[in-house]
Amino acid sequence: MEKVSTLTIEEKEFFMKEAIKEAKKAEAMAEVPIGAVVVLDGKIIGRGHNLRETTQNATAHAEMAAIQMACDQLDNFRLEDAQLFVTLEPCPMCSGAILLSRIDEVYFGAYDPKGGTAGSLLNLLEDQRFNHWCYLESRVLEEECSDLLKTFFRNLRQRKKEEKQKAKENNEKD
Ligand SMILES: [Zn+2]
Repeated sequence: MEKVSTLTIEEKEFFMKEAIKEAKKAEAMAEVPIGAVVVLDGKIIGRGHNLRETTQNATAHAEMAAIQMACDQLDNFRLEDAQLFVTLEPCPMCSGAILLSRIDEVYFGAYDPKGGTAGSLLNLLEDQRFNHWCYLESRVLEEECSDLLKTFFRNLRQRKKEEKQKAKENNEKD
């Protein structure tokens, strides 16, 4: 059974922009900028951003936080009829959480060729052998989503280079 999107292009871009706002919150905390929102009936019921470094928790992904908040809001682990927006393709853990919470539609911005399981390495979200599968759409505001990540990693490399340079200069002084 083919699933279809229930949203207009304008709605998709609006909610992805909200996910991007979440990603920027992560960036402001020197976290890899990834953000997510969960939407139900046109309203955001869950938000989250990556907090892996701050929490030193490998599972503190944007989608996990957004799904948790949505389940808390509804007091229900079932998020049927909900949509999830995330700036980067979900990993295996988050894809699992999406299936287990029965989110109906998933929209992501940039592909993650080294970790994504919504089309890159695997496609867990559209695998109809599971008892739940999703409508899946990629490349929603892709450029904006991937630029955030590219800029973040470029700045990180630059900072590391400068630190190395400084350490070298200090050594030379000694
Ligand atoms: Zn994840």
